[in-house]
Amino acid sequence: MEKTALEIVKDLKDKGFETYFAGGSVRDILLGKTPKDYDIVTSAKPGEIEDILEHTIPIGKKFGVILAVKNGHNFEVATFRSDAAYTDGRRPDAVYFTSPKEDALRRDFTINGMFYDPILKKVLDFVGGQKDLKNRVLRFIGDPHERIVEDNLRLLRAIRFKNELELDYAPGAYEAIKNNAKLIQNVSVERIREELTKILIGKNPGQAFREMSEAGILEIILPELEALKGVKQPELYHKEGDVFEHTLESIDSLPENPSKELAWAVLLHDIGKPATFSVDGRIRFNGHAEKGAELAGEIGKRLKFSNETTNNLQWLVKHHMMFGGFDKMKKTRQAHWIHQPLFGELLELLRADALGAKPKDLSLYDQLKKLADEKELLLPKPEVLLTGKEIIEKFGVAQGPKIGEILDAVHHAQMEEKIRTKEDALELARKLIKK
Ligand code: ATP
Ligand code: MG
Repeated sequence: MEKTALEIVKDLKDKGFETYFAGGSVRDILLGKTPKDYDIVTSAKPGEIEDILEHTIPIGKKFGVILAVKNGHNFEVATFRSDAAYTDGRRPDAVYFTSPKEDALRRDFTINGMFYDPILKKVLDFVGGQKDLKNRVLRFIGDPHERIVEDNLRLLRAIRFKNELELDYAPGAYEAIKNNAKLIQNVSVERIREELTKILIGKNPGQAFREMSEAGILEIILPELEALKGVKQPELYHKEGDVFEHTLESIDSLPENPSKELAWAVLLHDIGKPATFSVDGRIRFNGHAEKGAELAGEIGKRLKFSNETTNNLQWLVKHHMMFGGFDKMKKTRQAHWIHQPLFGELLELLRADALGAKPKDLSLYDQLKKLADEKELLLPKPEVLLTGKEIIEKFGVAQGPKIGEILDAVHHAQMEEKIRTKEDALELARKLIKK
């Protein structure tokens, strides 16, 4: 990809246009990391970019952004631009084509505001980004308050980059975030959700969520998490503190590159605890997994996750406590669980949950993992007798958790060899729907 990006820069430079890599890729190159993508900026205007490059798509031509497709890779190629006023806290009312310097000044943080000429191997830095990267400082370009008011998503971007890259805030940056926390309510749920996902699957999510909470952002975007603060847990298993602390430790214990569902499930696994708190000799949270799944469903809807993602999230939260008696379950019951499509993720949730507690106790996880690996070989997955689609079509059942329950029951009956054929499965489904 880097080689192809370099070819594009060369094509544009050969026609006399000033052209660079920009933004995140420059930051990553200077950090010695491989960039995920290469954004290219140039003095060529959109029409000229289209003329010079072979395969282009005008994805944001009005804003000066053309997508270049080459060797199976996509690159955003943009004309140097600066933004006109922001009136909605989201996007500029217009853009003007300008100089590299002005293009740098419209960017969010100094570490994201540099250009790089990959042919001359030279950095073009109008904002002091190299120095800040070296000293590990997250600094807004210009006045932090103004830059946040301009585009309110920068509240979360600042917290994300600071923690992902293990930086310190420049003087005034964190204060500006705290003072403007309320503006987060102007940002679309989709943008918030995507930013939170990036925070969760990146480095140091625990500290990032701590800062969101401290700044007053979390209570607005995820009040269910803020509500975990001060909810006491039994000392014996949770020396780390309240449910909020346990949750932060748990997300910090996610494996590298977790799936989106796993990351969110670990974040939300205990949100049912405040509503189910009781004291009966010791602190208990009876039914917190079910309650948590219900709340996770509401959050999934509110943040506009796809139905599939929300269902998966709910399934993971709902079953995160089912492991207690696993080794004593009947073989067929164990196999039933092991065959669940998200069983591997559920195990990883269990692991993060265990690592997020003090004392850390991985014995159950290790035991389950071993059992699961053995059982997988012993009890091959049975053929699929019935699908969710068939249940909807044949019985007119509406999309929803009921379908999963029926499929579950069919699978389990099959494992116990109580049913064998499609007709048996249909018969069982019919009975369950009647009930
Ligand atoms: P990553 O893709 O790894 O999250 P990135 O720096 O590439 O990091 P993008 O969101 O892809 O981030 O944006 C590319 C570049 O565009 C940034 O580096 C920054 O220069 C600029 N940019 C992106 N979002 C904003 C914003 N909200 N305000 C100002 N500049 C922005
Ligand atoms: Mg990027």
